[in-house]
Amino acid sequence: MSDLLSASANQQAAAIRNKEISASELCSAYLARIAKLDDQVGAFVRVDHQGATAMAKLVDAAIAAGEEPGPLAGVPVALKDLLVTEDLETSAASKILAGWIPPYDGTAVARLRNAGAVILGKLNLDEFAMGSSNEHSSIKPCANPWNLARVPGGSSGGSAAAVAANLCAISLGTDTGGSIRQPASFCGVLGLKPTYGRVSRYGVIAYASSLDQIGPLARSAEDAALMLEVICGKDPKDATSLDAPVPAFRQACQGDVRGLRIGIADEMSGDLSDPQVAAAVEAGIQVLQRAGAEVSRISLPHTRYALPAYYLLAPAEASSNLARYDGVRFGMRAGDERDLMDMYCQTRGQGFGAEVKRRIMLGTFALRAGYYDAYYKKAQQVRALIAEDFKQAFTKVDVIASPTAPSVAFAPGAKASPMDMYQADIFTLSCNLAGLPGMSMCCGFDSDNMPIGLQLLAPPLQEESLLRCAGEYQRRTDWHTRRPEAFQ
Ligand code: GLN
Repeated sequence: MSDLLSASANQQAAAIRNKEISASELCSAYLARIAKLDDQVGAFVRVDHQGATAMAKLVDAAIAAGEEPGPLAGVPVALKDLLVTEDLETSAASKILAGWIPPYDGTAVARLRNAGAVILGKLNLDEFAMGSSNEHSSIKPCANPWNLARVPGGSSGGSAAAVAANLCAISLGTDTGGSIRQPASFCGVLGLKPTYGRVSRYGVIAYASSLDQIGPLARSAEDAALMLEVICGKDPKDATSLDAPVPAFRQACQGDVRGLRIGIADEMSGDLSDPQVAAAVEAGIQVLQRAGAEVSRISLPHTRYALPAYYLLAPAEASSNLARYDGVRFGMRAGDERDLMDMYCQTRGQGFGAEVKRRIMLGTFALRAGYYDAYYKKAQQVRALIAEDFKQAFTKVDVIASPTAPSVAFAPGAKASPMDMYQADIFTLSCNLAGLPGMSMCCGFDSDNMPIGLQLLAPPLQEESLLRCAGEYQRRTDWHTRRPEAFQ
């Protein structure tokens, strides 16, 4: 059993299918591990003992009856608590949703269940996915399994920490400006944000709808690919979901990188990051070069404006999306109100945390009549220029490499001002603005044994190029097999 606990999700799925172990046994082992270890981490905001156990039993029954149990049959997974789950409380780590039990599953969640996945529970995050450290969770802090005195990154901090500490085999996160890739980098796991529209957003609590995307966090490329094969694809319930065939992603991991053209952009280079991060990222790129990839310099001149453009557009969309939390339709309502307006004010005043309020105010300001042209419209124009930069660059290269984040995981409180925190996203934001697929994989550790992430970006719908690189890289290196001391 201990072997299977540390095996890959693909191996676990095979062992269950071959009846070497039952889904129920694996599920109990993970539930026991969570009970024993998660107090230190805080990755889970809710463990669904009952639901997980019931699902594992169903999988075992299907296998015993000789039925096809699905590609993820019995694989223990966990979900960022931004994904809506039927009959299971969903909080977005916000007080304003406390006690809200959704009446439906989001599309990705429904697809997981159909594929036989065992959902262990819901994972911690920054409130409404706004943050880069998990410090904005209104439920509890989440720690980095590599050093409990550091943050796991954010906003999908729980999703990255749970995989790093092996409290689940694969998790789902969401990425609006880096929220899958940056925590993956901080926790030494692989995180992949698919092309905008690859995965349905139906049942994702909306932050900034033109940027939001669901994706997997896993230890290996093959495990992320297995998850992608299940969750990708057109969904009539999300008009922005793409009607594109879903490739055999696991096969892409077996490909090699001979002749693959890697671009390094001056505007997203190691010069902007900690020297140890820059060195590990450079060494990572060299591994791919030795495997036959060709490296050249490219330029993405407008990406230096990605940060101001993103922090205008994302709050603008958020201010509109979060208008629905009014104390009437969802979750919490403040008591003792004098009248309707007072009830709205009290509920929103008490229910939202400081960062969420800051974003709502920023967004409302940017969208005010008379300011729209100066801010929102300008930011949209910058967004179009950034997308054009990538389009040009991808005529010369197949993928673009950079650090995922300018530093390794920092200590809680280290980013005192919001601007300092926003800087953690400089390498990840432009990918969302352009709608591209992006991935972070572990490419080494610093002198304090904290993981470092290498980011790769590809043209729309070219996730396979990212997985090819990750597959090749993970065959040649063993960073992804390392486990934090306390969570072996
Ligand atoms: N850190 C960024 C923000 O706070 C990105 C968050 C995300 O991708 N959800 O907006």
